Amino acid sequence: MTDVDERATDDARTGELCAYCAESIDTSEWHPVVARTENGEFELYPFCDEDCRDDWEESEP
Ligand SMILES: [Zn+2]
Repeated sequence: MTDVDERATDDARTGELCAYCAESIDTSEWHPVVARTENGEFELYPFCDEDCRDDWEESEP
């Protein structure tokens, strides 16, 4: 039987990728995140830095 805190693993998902350039993100450090609701679904878009976030927001309608 494993003793895993599911909330902790959910918060610290490994292998998070930048939504713009697909660079892997060090989630232990601060990184920009944009929250959007698309088709009634709440989505979080992480970015490796603010430049990627700005470029992504410009490219989104
Ligand atoms: Zn990026």
